[in-house]
Amino acid sequence: MPSPRAEVSDVAVSPDHFIGGKRVPSTETFEVRSPLDWDWKLADVARGDALTADAAVSAASAAFPGWAEQGPRRRAEHLHRLAGLIDDNIEEIAVVECADMAMLLESLQARVVHRGAENFRNYADLAAGHRGRRWSSKGTENEVQRMPAGPAVIITPWNAPWLLSTWKIAPALAAGNTVILKPAEWAPLSASLLADLAAEAGLPPGVLNIVQGIGDEVGAALVSDRRVRRISFTGSPETARHIGVAAARNIVPFTAELGGKGPFLVFADADLDAAAKKAAGQYDDSGQVCLAGTRLLVEESISGEFLDLFHRYTDKQVLGDSRSPSTTISPLIHPDHLRRVEGFVERARDHGDEIVRGGRRWKDDGLWYEPTLIAPKSNDSEVVQREVFGPVLTYQTFADEDEGVRLANSTQYGLSAIVYTGSEERAQRVGSAIRAGTVWVNTFLVRDLTAPFGGCRISGIGREGGDYALDFHSDLKTLQISQGTTG
Ligand code: NAD
Repeated sequence: MPSPRAEVSDVAVSPDHFIGGKRVPSTETFEVRSPLDWDWKLADVARGDALTADAAVSAASAAFPGWAEQGPRRRAEHLHRLAGLIDDNIEEIAVVECADMAMLLESLQARVVHRGAENFRNYADLAAGHRGRRWSSKGTENEVQRMPAGPAVIITPWNAPWLLSTWKIAPALAAGNTVILKPAEWAPLSASLLADLAAEAGLPPGVLNIVQGIGDEVGAALVSDRRVRRISFTGSPETARHIGVAAARNIVPFTAELGGKGPFLVFADADLDAAAKKAAGQYDDSGQVCLAGTRLLVEESISGEFLDLFHRYTDKQVLGDSRSPSTTISPLIHPDHLRRVEGFVERARDHGDEIVRGGRRWKDDGLWYEPTLIAPKSNDSEVVQREVFGPVLTYQTFADEDEGVRLANSTQYGLSAIVYTGSEERAQRVGSAIRAGTVWVNTFLVRDLTAPFGGCRISGIGREGGDYALDFHSDLKTLQISQGTTG
């Protein structure tokens, strides 16, 4: 018997798993509360275990041959229907995601939920329009074909659950794989709505399965299952190490999109006002953004002028309830995470780093933390070298371009970077010298879904996005046919 649906901001959300096209409860549950008000309990969600993982992989394995055989064009029809339903349900998805993880309601309504629909449309069309490379060589006709690989496990973090789950599910399904999604336990609810829409769109049972639960319980069981042929993970480097071991045991390709500690470089020739405004914008979503430029690196000669502008823009940030249109900074996701962010700032203070602004909770009774700027004693300070994942930026200056690039490349991470400069030559030079999966010059977060996306160093393994994701979810085959006599 499926469990009763939970009412979340007047939207009925199933707390159960979605396996083989059916709602499946667990005897154990875990509690989900809203970061907007920690006294607001949203749901008791099914806590999957090894048996749940086994059932989900069985359902995905059974559905795989039929889904793979449909071919990219018929699969695209399903995915377009799903995209249409997402667009029809933007409001419901937005209010649930806002209650569940506190992303600003306005941006969910205006952009983020719709991006989920675009993910499905883009990958459906890209897969359907794909023509494998063909060429002649050594007396043979050659063709590269994509073969669907099998059931794929997708594991997502809590900071942008809707965006990231659709970004990762769409290419897997478009490529012909069946999917088991394990959303993060701190924000699992929008995934449940996606399951409803997948059923309504007529996706065959077992093509998309959603398993709820705790990472090192059902998550670990899923990634260890030998029938799984792809693992696509977004989260922390620590978890990626565990998943990588499981993937290696079964010789399963896996991609990992991990943490970041992006540099935000401002050169003296930049539009300082635009740079300062964008720098203050790194506090958006309370800094819980892997791509954020959290290390401000500013050319010495303009440091004072830049800082004045930066403070002016940061002063305009409004902390508050994410449902209010005037709010620009939401609460952090969870009390544990608030304590983690606090810990970084306390250790920085103890270490002798200078707290330039913020450095404390906004209110005693909520999960907000003030936008914080720290001038570190040295580049080795923990707060410079480790991802905080909160509204905490560091501030350092550099004397010239070489030093700026050296500092930019001086952490273990390499996910993204932001550069502000008025010189096209410098944009090319610095952009090329920075070691990161994405470098934005005079802009931020502009994403082309066909571009490769991922990180260098401990920010990740592999690339997703466009054809890169479709290739990842496929086994590539070279078909070689002799042009002449057999031999
Ligand atoms: P996390 O690694 O703690 O958890 C991510 C997911 O992994 C969750 O669903 C969790 O349940 C699951 N998990 C945990 N242990 C597991 C195990 N042993 N086996 C299988 N699954 C397991 O990360 P988080 O705290 O949810 O997310 C924050 C991190 O994600 C930050 O480091 C952030 O930078 C990163 N992130 C990266 C990107 C990117 O695209 N590079 C995007 C968003 C977030």
